[in-house]
Amino acid sequence: MRDPRPGLAWSRGRVARRRAYADWMASAAWHRRREAWRNQWVDAHGTEPFCVICGGAWTLRGGDLHHRTYARLGHEWFTDVISLCRPCHDRLHQIMESTPAWRKMGRRHATDLIVTTLAVRHATREGVGDG
Ligand SMILES: [Zn+2]
Ligand SMILES: [Zn+2]
Repeated sequence: MRDPRPGLAWSRGRVARRRAYADWMASAAWHRRREAWRNQWVDAHGTEPFCVICGGAWTLRGGDLHHRTYARLGHEWFTDVISLCRPCHDRLHQIMESTPAWRKMGRRHATDLIVTTLAVRHATREGVGDG
């Protein structure tokens, strides 16, 4: 979630949701949940988490968890969040917030589609070796 654009009025509901989100993200419980999420990833994959777009290293300290859905905010399922490096996370949000069509599609569907697109784009760029 990002700051509202200047001049853009937010509904009361959206402001309240944003406050709940900010409180949760700042909580010790969320930090414990991030640790639990990382441990669950290691159990499932046998590796440290990586950025699901570029494959770059992800750490509890330096990596982001992006919510595919806020449906279970505060008691997220493992699949409710994805690991992203900061630049890929910023890119995802730039795209998702660039047009209301993504929001209409639903956050989870939009996230998955954009992540897949960016991951393919990244892999293709690596394939042709132009950085
Ligand atoms: Zn990345
Ligand atoms: Zn995000």
